[in-house]
Parts: sequence; structure tokens; C-alpha cells
Amino acid sequence: MGPTAGGPGISANCSERNRLYYRESHVSKKRINFSLGGCKQCEACVSIAPDCFEIDENTGMPFLKKECADEDVVRELCAYCPEDCIEMEDMEEE
Ligand code: SF4
Repeated sequence: MGPTAGGPGISANCSERNRLYYRESHVSKKRINFSLGGCKQCEACVSIAPDCFEIDENTGMPFLKKECADEDVVRELCAYCPEDCIEMEDMEEE
């Protein structure tokens, strides 16, 4: 079953393998940058945070199925992703 037009964007974006996937979410005052441009499909992110990441069966690429609310988990993701696909940065107060 393919992605449906107008449906949730995560699966649709991840099915486009050559397209840079980018998502922002907010944890406290941090911003998570998730970019699959260099992803080597090692599945470390799924192992570390199975509640948040899943592998798309069609593309073999991970996608965020739920935002990661645990900052310690996000830090671990940042540390273990071998391709630096997951980064966390401080958000400036505006
Ligand atoms: S840990 Fe990084 S390189 Fe490995 S599958 Fe996840 S996003 Fe891709």
C-alpha cells in the first residue's frame, strides 16, 4: 500500500529515498534536526529508541513515528548515529 496524497507526511517523505528528509520537533528548549541525507540504514536509531523510530518496509529508511520526549534518549541518538543524521541544538529564546 503506497502513501496516500494528503495523508500524514512521514511515510510519504521517507518513500522518496533520494530526497533529504528533515523534521523538527521540540524537546524542552532543544531542537532536533533529523536529516537522512547520509543515513546508512544501520538501524541504531531504532535499537536505541524503538518507540520513536521505525524502519519503512518499502525504503529501508528509518522514520520518526513519534517525537522523542526523553532528552537523554535524544542525546544517545545523537551520539550513536554514525552518520550524524540526528543533531540536537539549543534554541535561542526570542
Ligand atoms: S542511526 Fe543514523 S545512520 Fe543509522 S539508521 Fe538511524 S539515522 Fe540512519
